[in-house]
Amino acid sequence: MSIDPKGYEYASDVLQDRVILITGASDGVGKALALHLAELGGRVILHGKNARKLEQVYDDIEAIEGAARPSIAVLDLATATGDEYAALANSVEETFGRLDGLVHNAAILGERLSIEQYDPGEWQKVMHVNLTAPFVLTQLLLPMLKRSDDGSIVYTSSGVGKVGKAYWGAYSASKFGIESLSQMVAAEHEHTAVRSNCINPGPVRTKMRLEAYPAEDRDQVPEPKDILAGYVYLLSKDSREISGQSFDIQ
Ligand code: NAP
Repeated sequence: MSIDPKGYEYASDVLQDRVILITGASDGVGKALALHLAELGGRVILHGKNARKLEQVYDDIEAIEGAARPSIAVLDLATATGDEYAALANSVEETFGRLDGLVHNAAILGERLSIEQYDPGEWQKVMHVNLTAPFVLTQLLLPMLKRSDDGSIVYTSSGVGKVGKAYWGAYSASKFGIESLSQMVAAEHEHTAVRSNCINPGPVRTKMRLEAYPAEDRDQVPEPKDILAGYVYLLSKDSREISGQSFDIQ
């Protein structure tokens, strides 16, 4: 079957009542995605590290007519303890009793330096936020996703998640790892209703993009709200048969 997630067309209630957790929902792609999923009927759990920013997204969702009330999960992926990760999973269970979608979107860029110059502490931090945290969250949330009749995990990759380019350091290594993690989860759940896929969003006008390309003409870079169809596809029942794949959505 040939699939074009970026050209996916969908009804305005395509995610009705689906419970979906988005990491890094306070800004950039994650924030735009949270708002759009709520518009489409989803019950969204907004994860981030900054409560004030998450409350703003919460208020924006509350202002959408007919949208379900979201919930907020504050957890700093760089510093949280194992117990704090477990508490997040428990609160999803207690509040919603289930989980149908998990979008691993939060990430940091880290330094843009050669391997010779790269600071090992920084390397560890980037690998932790971008790869270890999604692994831990996946492990803790899989039992709930397996209880859904249609559980979808979406990991966020990058162009440098498949090709190692100069000066991308731990960010690139972490995104290669994300591709591998997604494939392993897909293979381990081949005969279940859980699916796992990667999205490379391509260039998007966010604070991370500005950090990576400070000199580019930002008007030429798409806004987060314009690249969301592929995410909706992978979170909707229409992608039920799709697992273990990696999509460039621009
Ligand atoms: P962004 O605007 O920098 O947003 C990143 C999100 O992750 C924010 O909500 C941020 O929270 C959160 N986050 C960062 N560190 C965290 C931590 N320690 N604990 C919890 N949350 C944390 O980035 P973006 O451009 O939207 O990127 C979204 C995803 O797309 C990332 O996985 C990125 O690698 C990928 N991507 C982006 C592009 C692009 O051009 N933008 C291209 C390829 C791939 P705060 O708001 O509190 O900082």
